[in-house]
Amino acid sequence: MIKNLVYITMVLAISFSSNAQNKVLSKENTNNPKLVVGIVVDQMRYDYLTRFYNKYGEGGFKRMMNEGFNCKNNHFNYVPTYTGPGHASVYTGTTPKYHGVVGNDWYDKETKKMVYCAGDDDMISVGAETEDGKMSPHRMKTTTFADENRLFTQMRGKTIGISVKDRGAILPAGHTANAAYWFFGKDKGHFITSTFYMNDLPKWVNEFNASGMVASYLKSWNTLYPIDTYLESGTDLNNFEGGFKGKETATFPYDLNTLKDQNGGFDLLKATAYGNSIVTDFAIAAIAGEQLGQDNFTDVLAVSFSSTDYVGHNFGVNSKEIEDTYIRLDKDLERFFKALDAKVGKGNYTVFLTADHAAVDVPSYLQTVKIPAGYINSSEQKKMFTEFVTTTFGTADIIENVSNNQVFLNRAKIKELKLDLVDVQNAIVNEIINYPNIDKAYTATTLSTNEFNSGIETLIQKGFNQKSSGDVIFVYDPAFISYSKTGSTHGSGLNYDTHVPLLFFGKGIKHGATFKKTEITDIAPTMSALLGTSFPNGSIGQPLEFVLE
Ligand code: ZN
Ligand code: ZN
Ligand code: ZN
Repeated sequence: MIKNLVYITMVLAISFSSNAQNKVLSKENTNNPKLVVGIVVDQMRYDYLTRFYNKYGEGGFKRMMNEGFNCKNNHFNYVPTYTGPGHASVYTGTTPKYHGVVGNDWYDKETKKMVYCAGDDDMISVGAETEDGKMSPHRMKTTTFADENRLFTQMRGKTIGISVKDRGAILPAGHTANAAYWFFGKDKGHFITSTFYMNDLPKWVNEFNASGMVASYLKSWNTLYPIDTYLESGTDLNNFEGGFKGKETATFPYDLNTLKDQNGGFDLLKATAYGNSIVTDFAIAAIAGEQLGQDNFTDVLAVSFSSTDYVGHNFGVNSKEIEDTYIRLDKDLERFFKALDAKVGKGNYTVFLTADHAAVDVPSYLQTVKIPAGYINSSEQKKMFTEFVTTTFGTADIIENVSNNQVFLNRAKIKELKLDLVDVQNAIVNEIINYPNIDKAYTATTLSTNEFNSGIETLIQKGFNQKSSGDVIFVYDPAFISYSKTGSTHGSGLNYDTHVPLLFFGKGIKHGATFKKTEITDIAPTMSALLGTSFPNGSIGQPLEFVLE
């Protein structure tokens, strides 16, 4: 009885105080959008907006361009242009130098092991029996604009992150997120999460998982429109595409139900256009399930469409498969915006859309049209390098790790051999700069003691983290990749990797377009400016005043 009384009094007190504060906050913030939707399209090049323009409908990408603001010269301002750093930078408004997400995986100098950007051994999977939920944003050192919105609204504005990829959901949503959900394929085809957020999936997620919605996409993937109208991409059958196991050619149509057993079960869907449709279905369910945009405390919904990246890696940026994936994503966006209109209300929400990096044309294709491009012979370089180190320093032990275009030295060994660290770094730079297709190399000492202010060197510096990056960092020739001869990849500081869309539309956004250069780190402070909150704590970007009303 007494317990119940205490409980009732507490509930009354809480509801009274939140009502009182609700009034105060709502008075000042009635101009704020009820919901901010951040959309990251994984591996989206800027030219996908222009190249496929005539294939898009009025309600997706074009709606954003026609009603909102188009920053046409938007770039990543650091290397490496990978997924983990990309998602972190969009939402924190800063670069790996400050947020610490220096790769998808990187060599951890402290534990002397590779670590994953969203991995967290202290967590447990929720919704899966496997390790796939042992995740959190703990390796990201700074706040996202969504975190600042949570602090500003006394945790009343919600944050939800959604993606096919765990890191695409977790890093954007930030440290204070109510939830991040991502796709678990194999034999399940479910959305899962981690104990970082909760101990049990909410009812609406369980209902979604049980609905059979995901399984309904195990059908034929053919082009949405007749394939002979896809004039904006290369031939369907060529030497530059990977394809799926169990199908001889990388050509439409793909019978996903037949292919699934040889391609990871439900994981196959991630690598098709339908992965984006599944994320859209789930995001629409989340609007209702999480009650997003229903009060005056701005909520943040961070959605990342990752299937574009899988398709790009497999088939390349010039493939019919990529063209169809974007045409279908456009339809998914239309469906998503219509759901937002219906559930949150036209003019009540604000959307931005960008990418976590772009991608290079398949080098083996570029070679056929005489553009300098090619592949790094990694094993040959490794052989030369080991030989050099052994003859120069008497032992290969001086090298601890080579990963992410960086050389990590064994500091203890250098001390033991009474070598000078800077001399060793310089000797390595002078050696590897002679290797085929290594274009540039810098020591950590150079990057920490000089200030570059233009070109690729600036990008290297902004991606370089004094604490976690290596002793020597090197750069390949333009359009040279360490990758299979089919499909596209990314990671460089060249325009094909850095130039990505940036579209804004909805509440508080002007209509217009610019070729003025904007940077990926400007997005988060622009959202903070729109909401009137503090900027993310490590943000180095500038609010894009000209997009705001
Ligand atoms: Zn990516
Ligand atoms: Zn093809
Ligand atoms: Zn990728």
